[in-house]
Amino acid sequence: MDQSCQKEKSTKVLEIENLVKEYLVKVSLVSKEPFRAVDRVSLKIPSGDTVGLVGESGCGKSTLAKCILNLTRVNSGKVIYDGEEIQNLSDSEFLPYREKMQMVFQSPLYSFNPMMKVGQALMDPLRMIRHLNHREREEMVEYYLNLVGLDPTEFVSKYPNEMSGGQLQRVGVARALAVEPEFVFLDEPTSALDMSIRGQIVNLLLELQEKQSVSYIFVSHDLRVVRYIANRVFVMYLGEIVESGSKEDVFERPLHPYSRGLLTATFLGSKRRTDKKIEIKGEVVQETNVGCKLYNRCSYAKDRCKEEKQELKDVEGGRLVRCWRALEI
Ligand code: ADP
Ligand code: MG
Repeated sequence: MDQSCQKEKSTKVLEIENLVKEYLVKVSLVSKEPFRAVDRVSLKIPSGDTVGLVGESGCGKSTLAKCILNLTRVNSGKVIYDGEEIQNLSDSEFLPYREKMQMVFQSPLYSFNPMMKVGQALMDPLRMIRHLNHREREEMVEYYLNLVGLDPTEFVSKYPNEMSGGQLQRVGVARALAVEPEFVFLDEPTSALDMSIRGQIVNLLLELQEKQSVSYIFVSHDLRVVRYIANRVFVMYLGEIVESGSKEDVFERPLHPYSRGLLTATFLGSKRRTDKKIEIKGEVVQETNVGCKLYNRCSYAKDRCKEEKQELKDVEGGRLVRCWRALEI
């Protein structure tokens, strides 16, 4: 079955403006305090574009996904899709966007109903696509399972716990793509896959983008994959975007000390490594100072960094960096 002609190319833009998400966390037996997991994040993704989102574990990537996909309420800021504000909609108000905006979850096992066979888990979301009878939906399930390299005759009747993490991750990708979405948040979609399948899935995503202008936010610890698939890259640290720019700019010449540390660690030994090795010291700690959140870990920090809030600044034609010292170090 050829899916390629079924859907017109999307021309829709996803915009995130100053998004803030705080969780209430226990600080003692009786009291809770807000913890800011996403801190005034703004970004814009035109249709057909891929944004790579990178940063250490715990920096707020999955929380950002949940805010965009209306899986949690945001404290402030906006998520705008095709000109409409969609943050904090009720489930029924969000329904028209459910089909268009999909997510591939970081932990595939938790994103499937353990009591539901794979075939059913894929069939259910297809109800959102009208005018498909049962047989046509079955055909679509087979088509998408084949596309992610899983044999339908073997897998439709399996339960999630009968599959490996990598197989389930591929079902997650099939489930997201089968409804022919316009936007997909891919949260570590290839982490459980071995290298050959990883390349296959990434190429599938790119092919689909070519056909349908679907836009992606792609999160991965594998920065090589991010460099391959993304057009623009956002670097996140403790809830904040600290740098963004074209992938060439950010990967070839990272400006923020944190990006430089992150990318140097990955590309050390490759030809494209940054010239000067920068190390980020110690563990991630939630900073209480008013200034830069990286203050305690940054070898370039000065008193001013601790005392003054760092804003995200355009340093050269759309290249945004949150560091006073970015251009001098
Ligand atoms: P990432 O996906 O980048 O690893 P997350 O978005 O999962 O980061 O988490 C960001 C921060 O928010 C972490 O410090 C995490 O512990 C915290 N966090 C995530 N979910 C919750 C929750 N439901 N309640 C409280 N804190 C949370
Ligand atoms: Mg995550």
